[in-house]
Amino acid sequence: MNPRGSVLALSGGIGGAKLALGLQGVVGPGRLTVVVNTGDDFEHLGLAISPDVDTTLYTLAGLANRELGWGRETESWHFMEELERLGGESWFRLGDKDLAVHVERTRRLAAGEPLSEIVADFARRLGLATQVLPMTDDRVRTIVETAAGTLSFQRYFVQHRCEPRVTAIRYAGAEQAQLPQAVLRELDRPDLAAVVICPSNPYLSIEPILAIPGWRAWLRSCRAPVIAVSPLIGGEAVKGPTAKIMRELGLEVSPLTIARRYAGIIGGFVLDQVDAALAPRFEAPVQVASTLMRTLEDKERLAREVLDFAEFILTARSHTQG
Ligand code: GDP
Repeated sequence: MNPRGSVLALSGGIGGAKLALGLQGVVGPGRLTVVVNTGDDFEHLGLAISPDVDTTLYTLAGLANRELGWGRETESWHFMEELERLGGESWFRLGDKDLAVHVERTRRLAAGEPLSEIVADFARRLGLATQVLPMTDDRVRTIVETAAGTLSFQRYFVQHRCEPRVTAIRYAGAEQAQLPQAVLRELDRPDLAAVVICPSNPYLSIEPILAIPGWRAWLRSCRAPVIAVSPLIGGEAVKGPTAKIMRELGLEVSPLTIARRYAGIIGGFVLDQVDAALAPRFEAPVQVASTLMRTLEDKERLAREVLDFAEFILTARSHTQG
């Protein structure tokens, strides 16, 4: 695809940010917007922390810590060391550079600025031409019901390392939440060429976005093709608890389950080549691709394939309609 139009991506943290980075490389400057899950956000040590938003900002700006898979590269840990010495809570690690982001975000939120403006400004200050926006300025919190009780997302994910068996997931506040003005402007863009649901955890990263009133209806009526990329390869997640949660919720661990979850809103599904045999069983059109993203080349190649697929679907639609 010669990406002349703009592209909107929906994303969680690590998995989604990988494809967002690929899209950033192939979509022209100023034409990519990444709408990021904030269901993982929480208040800790008096700070407003937005883990998926920050992972996205750091990844797109080339500042992410690839070894850890979270936080900043060339990070120092003086704050954490001193906090531990004073007996403070240390289960959630905050590096010194990372800390500056949380302190500044917290200050600006307290001064009344909406999260979307703060994040868009951080993106610009980090030198990004890509627009990064939180899914909402309102408070939405992913709550995980487990065999060990009700857990807030970060307690489940970080403190309990996703070990407790999940029985249900809720997105508290989503029904009352609204889309930020900056997101609404993007949805209205006449040059929108594709919407990409990144290979993020469907239950912890994408569903919180879709739970906000307006998203599903907009995606259903969107002129641009909506393409989802599978976060499962060969019946397993590349990283994280996606497959474990599916098993615990009694769901078949298959990209088919995920495509069914997005039924009615996606115009196409990108399946890993390892799972190619499943292709005839999908209702939506399927593109088989190598979806494992290790290098920047992998990410940009997959991004190109996704956008080509969107263009193909759009052309096929215009032939049927014309
Ligand atoms: P989190 O919020 O940090 O957990 O990140 P996401 O929700 O964005 O991503 C987690 C999902 O990304 C998991 O289901 C992984 O299987 C998936 N994932 C990670 N890396 C890759 C990859 O290279 N290819 C594909 N297809 N999926 C990936």
